[in-house]
Amino acid sequence: MWIVFDLDDTLVETTRVLTPFQYRRTLAHLAALGVALAEREETLSLLLRIDARSEKASMAWTEGGELLGLSKQEVDIALNFFYGSLPPQFPLEPLPGAKETLETLRQRHQLALVTVGEPANQLAKLERAGLEPKLFSKILVGSGDKRPHYQALLAHSGLPPEQVMVCGDRPLIDLLPAKELGCLTVQMRNGRGLVSPDWAGAVDLTIGRLKDLIDIVERMDDEHRTAAHSGRNTQS
Ligand SMILES: [Mg+2]
Repeated sequence: MWIVFDLDDTLVETTRVLTPFQYRRTLAHLAALGVALAEREETLSLLLRIDARSEKASMAWTEGGELLGLSKQEVDIALNFFYGSLPPQFPLEPLPGAKETLETLRQRHQLALVTVGEPANQLAKLERAGLEPKLFSKILVGSGDKRPHYQALLAHSGLPPEQVMVCGDRPLIDLLPAKELGCLTVQMRNGRGLVSPDWAGAVDLTIGRLKDLIDIVERMDDEHRTAAHSGRNTQS
């Protein structure tokens, strides 16, 4: 079986740990450019409040920028900086149990990572969270739609889609394209996934802890073995 993971908020605590740091850095960048802003901590807490109910940080910058009286050009500067290169030292943690779960699952399955963002940033996040790239047989970093990456992985694996599991936090972005391709989808309830709109039929299973995936995969393995066994018996 192939198990495909999303990175941000699925394996690493992006929204809880890295995002506040990035808002703070971006506000300092705007101030250094001479953009007039209200008191820094007040501005930061306004942006974080909007972010907490936003599916993407870009939405918080658009909405918050308007409230703060930023011009369209200033919001664009903020977004470029916010999503731009991460500095050498940035805070990030893995989700609880991430490393152990990946290490256990990779003993009997192929793992892949499909993530959206700047490739250098996404690889730096893995390293910063102490997750070695070699845990994954394939790492695909892209922008926007994940569907072509899932299609590429399906072709590469040579497996039928029902033997490919995709685990991510956002139903619409991570899981719907996988579900439409016939993969099994698991929503990790964390981060932006908690405020993302539900998408009927996109989610097969929901987990609250990554480690729960170990039992789920084990159960599926047993079912496959039983099905293969009874298939053989019927033929004989
Ligand atoms: Mg995510």
